[in-house]
Amino acid sequence: MGLNTKHGTIKYPAFFPDATHAVIKGISTQDILDSGTTGLVVNTYHAIVDKTVDIIEKCGGLHEFMGFNFPVITDSGGFQAMSLIRRSPGNGKIIRDGIKFKIDGSRKSITLTPENCIQTQAKLGADIMVCLDDCTDPGESQKEQELSVARTVAWAKRCKEEFQKIKKEKPLLFAIIQGGNSKELRKKCAEELIKIGFDGYAYGGWPVDGDGKFLDEIVEYSASLMPDGMPKYAMGIGKPEDIKKCVKMGYNMFDCVLPTRDARHKRLYVLNGSAEKGYEFVYMRAQKHETDSNPVSDSCNCEACKNHSRAYLYHLFKQGDSNAGRLATIHNLTFYSKLMEELHPLTLLR
Ligand SMILES: [Zn+2]
Repeated sequence: MGLNTKHGTIKYPAFFPDATHAVIKGISTQDILDSGTTGLVVNTYHAIVDKTVDIIEKCGGLHEFMGFNFPVITDSGGFQAMSLIRRSPGNGKIIRDGIKFKIDGSRKSITLTPENCIQTQAKLGADIMVCLDDCTDPGESQKEQELSVARTVAWAKRCKEEFQKIKKEKPLLFAIIQGGNSKELRKKCAEELIKIGFDGYAYGGWPVDGDGKFLDEIVEYSASLMPDGMPKYAMGIGKPEDIKKCVKMGYNMFDCVLPTRDARHKRLYVLNGSAEKGYEFVYMRAQKHETDSNPVSDSCNCEACKNHSRAYLYHLFKQGDSNAGRLATIHNLTFYSKLMEELHPLTLLR
């Protein structure tokens, strides 16, 4: 069971690491492939801000540019633009047409509209595009959540209209379900989006409350609103234990910065840890690893575990050598690839 795209079939469940600026920090495309990673998420917002959209298009699109022939999702960039505004209202605002923002310190504003969002993703050569949405925090007022759903649906409709103008082979288009922590609003949003018709649906907004507690009930309810047999994308999720929970709820696609960011912060995932989590962290900052001749994980065959000891990785981090982050990132991505393999039978039950 999987999803057919222009660059192959996505096997469920799939974890897509974030190659935010068309690169996973510190590792090569070959390293990405060697880790068993079979898809990436590239960020539209960063491509616009980096002014790389036209360059990537001239170079034949993301796949050609990166030398990566597997599925690529481009997110809409809405989440990043909204985060920028939330950080400081002076950075921009939501207007009827879309999200108007300016980068810190810049005078010139950029407006992300449903139309230019789709056009940009088309230029990047995505396999899966994502509609522009208005992402809220679960803690925001009911009024704000209602507005967010209304905007998200209106923008999704405009995204679909723009998408239909694409002349070359069409990618897939996913829509995002908003509604904060309100079941009623989530239902309304899902029903409206399903009426417009998309190739897949995603859970949008923060999946955790202000205390960092995972919002099981609303996340599960949102999955039940998405049509069965279609992609159910849990955006920004996450931790291995949350992914496992979400697969049981019916989600089959995931992306998150965690494994790559953790790797750069010396936090490595190792299988067979606590029974509850199924894994444990090995911290490469812990001095006990200074002379530890064991690999990071006995059961991992990544470049780091196959060739090096914890002591050597500890040494590379201590030296500030770029190989430290590289090897740690390869290891964590290999861990996630294996985790997806292990969770695959759960997707067949649905
Ligand atoms: Zn490894």
